Amino acid sequence: MSPRDPRLAVETKRDGRALSEGEIEAFVEGYVRGQVPEEVAAAFLMAAYIRGLDADETAALTKAMVASGKTLRLERVERPKVDKHSTGGVSDGVTLVFAPMAAAMGLAVAKLSGRGLGHTGGTLDKLESIPGLRTDLSAEEIERQVVEIGCAVAAQSAALVPADAKLYALRDATATVASVALIAASVMCKKLAVQSDLILLDVKCGSGAFMKTRRAAVALARACVGIARGSGRRARAAVTDMSQPLGEAVGNSLEVAEAVAVLRGEKPGRLRDLAVVLAGEALSHASGAAMGEARAAAARAIDSGEALERFRRMVEAQRGDARVVDDPQGVLPRAPVERVIEADRGGTIVAVDAEAIGGQAVALGAGRLRKEDPVDPSAGLILRAKIGDRLEMGMPIGEAHARTEDAAERAARGVLQALQLSEEPVRAPQLVLGWFDSED
Ligand code: URA
Repeated sequence: MSPRDPRLAVETKRDGRALSEGEIEAFVEGYVRGQVPEEVAAAFLMAAYIRGLDADETAALTKAMVASGKTLRLERVERPKVDKHSTGGVSDGVTLVFAPMAAAMGLAVAKLSGRGLGHTGGTLDKLESIPGLRTDLSAEEIERQVVEIGCAVAAQSAALVPADAKLYALRDATATVASVALIAASVMCKKLAVQSDLILLDVKCGSGAFMKTRRAAVALARACVGIARGSGRRARAAVTDMSQPLGEAVGNSLEVAEAVAVLRGEKPGRLRDLAVVLAGEALSHASGAAMGEARAAAARAIDSGEALERFRRMVEAQRGDARVVDDPQGVLPRAPVERVIEADRGGTIVAVDAEAIGGQAVALGAGRLRKEDPVDPSAGLILRAKIGDRLEMGMPIGEAHARTEDAAERAARGVLQALQLSEEPVRAPQLVLGWFDSED
């Protein structure tokens, strides 16, 4: 093997040795240029997944991924800039609510989002279920929109962090997603490529997250804020509960409809609560306001209708059908079959396999099994019952939105199987489990 042979990097990692910054940089650059074959990159990811990457290797991978493309400097944006990213969950429509809330409070959000990965949903797929809406914005378009409206949610293009787009899809195809180092590098390269005053991370923990345990989620939160620290950037990471779907809707147009309901002030619950916590955090950091005050301002951004108005303007600017804010049911695609899911037994919900629920939504067409698969914007599930709720046999607890009766029936059965019931009462899980800061 020649010194530049990419198999050497695989061999080093396979044998549990650390790679140098230069080796990682050469590997990533070669992969983006098409000089590293897909099978070698796949083997590298598996070696990194099994052996892990140390903090220096993770930082080097992040840096190499940022260097694979351009950066978004947002020099014309005068408002305080905040970026937000979730590590991936089920029914996690927080960005759809957070970005217009932050904009309504005078902050700026220029967010590069991803597509669905594994059982988790992706903000781009959700937004694109709004007829006409574009996410392939150029750097200039993103900046102009943020100056004018305060928020833009766009796809990472070939110009921005192309290494992540390629590696993200390959990880999905090779069962190498749930690695602390690979997720940290993937999340943070997108955050470092965009200039911001604060990076807010929502690190999901539990059955619907890639990190199933609190220990793993804390390791991911620490890895992410550590990368920010090493790059001289400020980051705060919340570890938040994903032991059940966050909201009620799982699936693209269904999640947009739910986000619109939250923005219209019509839907209390955990989705709204988490958006308020994160937007409050962003405002408090930008203005120095006490946390209580900042959260109250975030709630007011919804209740006054200002956040909804920002969402309308964002959809319009991205060429989507802005009537979605007034009549989501009339504008968003609807599945031909809508089947009510009824409880098949009584008891208190004590645990939910949120990954299985995400998997049922993917099977209905809401996500992808292969990266080239299209998503069905109308497909998905509604699950209204949460941990701690008491169910009676036959009680309606949700809906399956599907192409066929059979598919709806299978999904309904899958949802019921994902619920663990008991006669013992149980408390609802805490929403925010802890905070980590790049300055700690
Ligand atoms: N979100 C990302 O951006 N990357 C991952 O690897 C997982 C979630």
